[in-house]
Amino acid sequence: MAPDNASSGNKKLKLAVLTSGGDSAGMNAAVRTVVKAGIIRGCETWIVREGYEGLVLGNQEHHGPPEPLADIPDNVPARISDDSLINNLRFGDGELLRDGQGDGDFSDEPRSLRNRYIVRVGWDDVRGWMSEGGTLIGTARSAAFRTREGRLAATYNLIKEGIDAIVVCGGDGSLTGADRLRSEWPDLIEELRNEGRITPEQAETYGHLKIVGLVGSIDNDMALTDLTIGAPTALHRICESIDNINSTASSHSRAFVVEVMGRHCGWLALLAGVSAGADFIFIPERPPKAMPWEDEMCEVVRKHREVGKRKTIVIVAEGAIDSELNPIKADYVKDILTERLGLDTRVTTLGHTQRGGRPCAYDRILPTLQGVEAVDALLEANPNTPSYMIGINENKIVRVPLVDAVRKTQEVAKAIEEKNFAKAMSLRDPEFAESLEGFLITSTLEDSRLLPQPKRLRVAIIHMGAPAGGMNAATRAAVRFCVARGHTPLAIQNGFKGLLDDNVHELSWLRVDTWMARGGSELGTNRTLPDIDLGAIAARFQQHAFDALFLIGGFEAFSSLLILEKGRANYPAFQIPMVHLPATISNNVPLTDFSLGSDTSLNALVDACDAIRQSASASRNRVFVVETQGGQCGYIATMGALATGAVLVYTPEVGIDLDMLRKDVQYLKLRYHLDPKGQSQGRLVVRNEVASSVYTTDMITRMLKEEGGSLFDSRSASLGHTLQGGVPSPIDRARAVRLSLKCMAFIEASSTKLRAMSSKERAQHQASAAVITIQGSSIQLTPVQEMVQHADMKHRRGINTWWQTQRIKELTESLGGGGLREA
Ligand code: ATP
Repeated sequence: MAPDNASSGNKKLKLAVLTSGGDSAGMNAAVRTVVKAGIIRGCETWIVREGYEGLVLGNQEHHGPPEPLADIPDNVPARISDDSLINNLRFGDGELLRDGQGDGDFSDEPRSLRNRYIVRVGWDDVRGWMSEGGTLIGTARSAAFRTREGRLAATYNLIKEGIDAIVVCGGDGSLTGADRLRSEWPDLIEELRNEGRITPEQAETYGHLKIVGLVGSIDNDMALTDLTIGAPTALHRICESIDNINSTASSHSRAFVVEVMGRHCGWLALLAGVSAGADFIFIPERPPKAMPWEDEMCEVVRKHREVGKRKTIVIVAEGAIDSELNPIKADYVKDILTERLGLDTRVTTLGHTQRGGRPCAYDRILPTLQGVEAVDALLEANPNTPSYMIGINENKIVRVPLVDAVRKTQEVAKAIEEKNFAKAMSLRDPEFAESLEGFLITSTLEDSRLLPQPKRLRVAIIHMGAPAGGMNAATRAAVRFCVARGHTPLAIQNGFKGLLDDNVHELSWLRVDTWMARGGSELGTNRTLPDIDLGAIAARFQQHAFDALFLIGGFEAFSSLLILEKGRANYPAFQIPMVHLPATISNNVPLTDFSLGSDTSLNALVDACDAIRQSASASRNRVFVVETQGGQCGYIATMGALATGAVLVYTPEVGIDLDMLRKDVQYLKLRYHLDPKGQSQGRLVVRNEVASSVYTTDMITRMLKEEGGSLFDSRSASLGHTLQGGVPSPIDRARAVRLSLKCMAFIEASSTKLRAMSSKERAQHQASAAVITIQGSSIQLTPVQEMVQHADMKHRRGINTWWQTQRIKELTESLGGGGLREA
């Protein structure tokens, strides 16, 4: 990331960041990124403690900016000592903030945070914040800021400290407050000037408020963004809890009513329902259609019990209502299940456990990408540009006008109040509606979706390659879809080898019930391709009268589909719809941004690296070289480095050479040199297993140990198969359901088309053998033949990948600390 001239003219932009409203995981990563990206871009960086309350209170005395505490050694190369980063290393408040001691008794401490709410911070003050839950700079719900008087005080304090721009990270309330401050700003400035509290020059200089919103909220209730910072971690906590409840519920054949957060938004309840395989959910946006809803719920649960389910999970969002807006409460749901169905029912309210804990991988990557975008938006802001909220649209970081996002969010609440639930649903992003449809298809046993007999298909399902989180969830969704439509779902056990051994059997609705949370591959998987004996494979297709094939796996599944598609000319048995759902921890299938399992594996990496970093830090001066899987694809290494704040990353795409190693050693020496005496930190280097055949993990570790001398020590850790993950992450589970159901819809549509064709036409119909891919903001079914153009078949990876952009490369290198690296 090239240092930018943050200043227009000679003045450096003074940039402050605050967190407001309910805390959420990932807020610290957002603050860390704004501070680091701000410094890299040449800004002076500040934090505001206790949200808007801190802005209203301000600093009791005006201290002026503190001197940096960095001990700059004499032998720093010229280019580095020029860098503003060196002068922004630390201002000494990081540890106080980390320990939550800002309001403690530091009366005789000259650098105490007591009565200082707007605080200068540097690079090292936010070190290690990525892995911490909550918000280290404090948050509050500020009644004072809701008043004009409070906002006037906030305006005055910002100007008094010379702050030019602010980033607010919070939920819809906080961003409403930000929008309010933005719209009132000219009047507030005018009032301060008229009162003589600021000079006309100050009024001129600060006449335009530069403000950007980052959405930090566990509810995921903000419009115009698919996800809010903290929501994925909250979903993790909920799914972990429900997975735990499942085993006890099943043991005792009990029902559990689980209450989750979400006053105006059912995202957590819905996604938890999908990911944890619940029986019934209550969300504010779509109350049960039937009145009385008690009958509807009991009917669904009764049917599940009739087919042999031993457990029942009902999820109730905090703000759940019926179609007459009467609240639906967990205790009442429990009473209904107990009284009407005779179930031994318990209530579990997850409460604040949902907010807490370490952020998951997504809640580190999202605030990192968005934090940089926020800083850039502020640097580019002028009186003619709107104030932005930074959102994400599928896999794209976007800027949307803050005012639009706030207005649209308020419209949802209004639509619910007006009982216009269709409108409330339409105002949520498309994934919300798809997830709801997915939940209903996979959780209800009813006949309304059945197809007429001639349209029913025998759908074969096969797993291929290494196991990946979400394979079983995708299979469960496919089976449940098949049952709902009257198709026959057939499991091919142990891949194509298993097919040759005639290892095929029918799957039932109940058989797959617990598969959402299962890691590995329930069908069994291996790397054997169908060309081992294509004729014999075709014979098995014919013998079992397969009407469609659903392949779930990585590059092997992709290669298998290619082979089968080419075989259509010789084997009519392959002239059926065939679809591949990418599932591999390597995320190396061409064209798709994400494959199933890639999120689970990133989380496994983050968990391991947090533990390793702790050990490295305890030893004070240790560099850990962490080796990751990923084959010839550097996705996990790159994104893992970004999510764990590693200082260096080595990937197969870039490779390793001597010159690079020399610069890296120099950089590490300098970095350890700059650490305060006795307080050196542990640091991580991430290396993909095949980044170089010569410069191995062991060789790099020994080289660093040798070169580190008395400055730093080095050790290695190989994560190996742990990256295949135990329990699949909620993101992988939800993605599995969504994509699997789209694959099933594709199979149905393609089958109708193929049945109307001659054999010759069918053999040439490339579109009916496709791979489902996530591409930016859309999901595409791409013919497998077309996929080949986007594949590097030799290295088994895609040619163009979203994560190999200049921005991600810059971020991984610079935010970890490589900004100090010699050019
Ligand atoms: P969460 O999603 O966790 O509830 P939130 O940001 O929505 O977070 P709120 O309590 O609604 O939480 O808002 C946080 C703060 O934002 C409030 O305490 C208040 O200081 C400020 N705020 C909210 N709404 C307004 C408003 N209309 N005008 C001015 N300030 C507001």
